[in-house]
Amino acid sequence: MSSPKAHTAATNRQRTCIACGAQGHKGGLLRIVRSPEGEVCFDETGRMPGRGAYVCGPACFEKARSGRLQRALKTEVDKEACERLAVQLGSAQALKE
Ligand SMILES: [Zn+2]
Repeated sequence: MSSPKAHTAATNRQRTCIACGAQGHKGGLLRIVRSPEGEVCFDETGRMPGRGAYVCGPACFEKARSGRLQRALKTEVDKEACERLAVQLGSAQALKE
């Protein structure tokens, strides 16, 4: 009678792209976060508090932005926020490469 989840619960954060389902790889996934205040923004450090969603890059963001992103974050993401995220993810992706 052991409870393995007690030990791993805190560290077992699975990172899966919300658009294509790819799991965190070498370069890492890009994190989008909904802050406790309800603001949706790109989390460059991966350490911001709030509910997060991951994408591989701008292409996957485009696929997810109209549906899965909102479901993943459990909030509406307006067009303005989407445009801002697209730009931020684009430059983050460029830095990775
Ligand atoms: Zn992806």
